[in-house]
Amino acid sequence: MVFQVMPFTSALHSAFWPLISNKKLTELRLDESPLPALAKYANNNKEGVPATLCLEWDAFDPKLLLQSATFLAKGSVVNTNTIETFKTMDKKEFLAQEADTLWKLMLNGEAIQEPSRLCSWVLLMHADLKKYLYYYWFAFPSFELPGTLEQKANPKAVESELRLELCEHLLKSFEDWKRLNSEISGFFFVRIEESTSVKILSLAEGIKPGVKFDYIGLADPSSMDEHPGVPLRNLLTLLMIQCPEKLLGDFKVLCLRQIRHGSNPIGKSVVLSMSYSGEKLANQPRSFGWESDESGRMLPRCVNMKSSMDPQSLAESALDLNLKLMKWRLVPDLDLDLIKNTKCLLLGAGTLGCNVARCLLGWGVRSISFVDCAKVSYSNPVRQSLFTFEDCLAGSDKAKAAAHMMKKIFPGCKSAHYNLRVPMPGHAISEALEKGVLDDFNLLDRIVQEHDVIFLLMDSRESRWLPTVMGATYKKIVINAALGLDSFVVMRHGTRDSRSFQDPNAKANAFLGGKDVTYVPGHDLGCYFCTDIVAPGNSTADRTLDQQCTVTRPGVSYQAAALAVELLSSLLQHPKKAEAPAAVYSKSYQGGDSLESTGILGVVPHTIRGSLQNFQQFTPTSMLFPKCSACSEKVIEAFKDKKFDFLKRAAADKKYLEDLVGLTEMLNVEGLEEDVFTLDDDDLTD
Ligand SMILES: [Zn+2]
Repeated sequence: MVFQVMPFTSALHSAFWPLISNKKLTELRLDESPLPALAKYANNNKEGVPATLCLEWDAFDPKLLLQSATFLAKGSVVNTNTIETFKTMDKKEFLAQEADTLWKLMLNGEAIQEPSRLCSWVLLMHADLKKYLYYYWFAFPSFELPGTLEQKANPKAVESELRLELCEHLLKSFEDWKRLNSEISGFFFVRIEESTSVKILSLAEGIKPGVKFDYIGLADPSSMDEHPGVPLRNLLTLLMIQCPEKLLGDFKVLCLRQIRHGSNPIGKSVVLSMSYSGEKLANQPRSFGWESDESGRMLPRCVNMKSSMDPQSLAESALDLNLKLMKWRLVPDLDLDLIKNTKCLLLGAGTLGCNVARCLLGWGVRSISFVDCAKVSYSNPVRQSLFTFEDCLAGSDKAKAAAHMMKKIFPGCKSAHYNLRVPMPGHAISEALEKGVLDDFNLLDRIVQEHDVIFLLMDSRESRWLPTVMGATYKKIVINAALGLDSFVVMRHGTRDSRSFQDPNAKANAFLGGKDVTYVPGHDLGCYFCTDIVAPGNSTADRTLDQQCTVTRPGVSYQAAALAVELLSSLLQHPKKAEAPAAVYSKSYQGGDSLESTGILGVVPHTIRGSLQNFQQFTPTSMLFPKCSACSEKVIEAFKDKKFDFLKRAAADKKYLEDLVGLTEMLNVEGLEEDVFTLDDDDLTD
């Protein structure tokens, strides 16, 4: 009958690839000569499991540990320098050389001393270390067996050959012997000495003239009742070369499988009855052994290890996992992708800008762009968490240095930087400067449109004006944070649409009705300028040096930056997003849920004001002001209509804005001017 074996299937542990990459970089470099390596296989494969030959993390460790039922297979790795060599190499010739080597080992007897060489294998591969791509092809060289060797019958279950008691003795003897001879334990001879005693002989012992045995044995990786595993093929070849007289006539092979069947601990083992009528094998038979790919084709395979080896990918998955734990354990409805994919534009890369960026990164936000026109100064690094002393020495641009540091912290961060000065009202634009201001205006106009969220984190009141106008025009989420000496304000600007400009007085009355809690919808919430009844002017004109520096208690910016980002995350996780209403509480409010303004992460306030004077925090809500100089209908229309000309006029004369929105009229008619005082914002810094 036809002698057939179950072939090996290669199994490369994911830990093998970093190992070979490291070898390539530190030892092999451009060397393409075969690198000896150690693989393992088992003889306890359950039914249906392929006979796997595994290369793992210990493939180059001479002291690798062989567990029970695990055996050694010595082979080699050939790593080509280029993908072309890997592709064009003559595969027939390559395998023929490997077979030659194996044949010589059998002839000169080295394979008797080192039987693990009989499970011969070679891994031909190319490692593309830049892309973490590994092309590979396994071969298990073995030889065609002569016709003088015959399998006489189907394999017999071991229990029909040996009594249970003997099977138990056999296993014990084998395990005792393997403990002392683990590296050579894949092949052996079995001698039944008495009815209760089994002796295991090594290949070297059993092959000697005159030594008797009952079975030729091998640790069999096959899981099939009908077929032994492939190692038997090379074992028989070796014996036909080294001691054909021991095979002459009939002989038996014990395919030892350490897997229980019923009460028999090696019950899945089989015994093969064979016969040999030939002479000493003298000429090298035909060889074969390339492994087919997953679909059974004779082709190499490729594995992409980027996700598990690229440090950048590792950092990304670690960050995402951290956030997913929050979702899995505490907030199952959290939409992490929404936060992750939100594009944030940070206007101002000072203390607020740096800390807002760090906090956004903590939420997994990937796209964080910086706008600033200053250079890193010696006073910056201690408070501005993205700069170092070296940035001062180099005179780096703040936006660029901040973006650079973000990538250093997290390479997956897509951080753009723009060195531009935000044009301001009340700062007349001279002809000489007009071209530069126009460029800044156009750039700002473009990048505001390209982002989803605009953070206003600058150090002056009027620099927030133009981005507020743009944010309202393009319906962006605008988060504003400003600092005083020991206080801060963090707020979200209301979104603007046609509903925002319908009969404001009627709405105000409705919202401020008699209930304990009422709600102002997102499109009716105020902006930073809505509480002012004068247009922003040049607040830096008469600043002293003190006022231009960061004169705040250091902790305030951390507080405000953290709240600004958390306000955004709460807003994004509210079912209505930017339209999320903010609660207004009456004096009789006793506490309790503010349901409508509560999203997945809790309440979404409009404004958060805090102070270190008394360590208190308030969340007032204010409505839009129909005559606001930054977000009212007339401003948005004028901006859409005139763009840069609108800015030029507002820059030249702050009266222009006041006239446009009707503030002048209101102030004159109502005679309020003397009674009005606005909060002094000069101590606002970034
Ligand atoms: Zn406004």
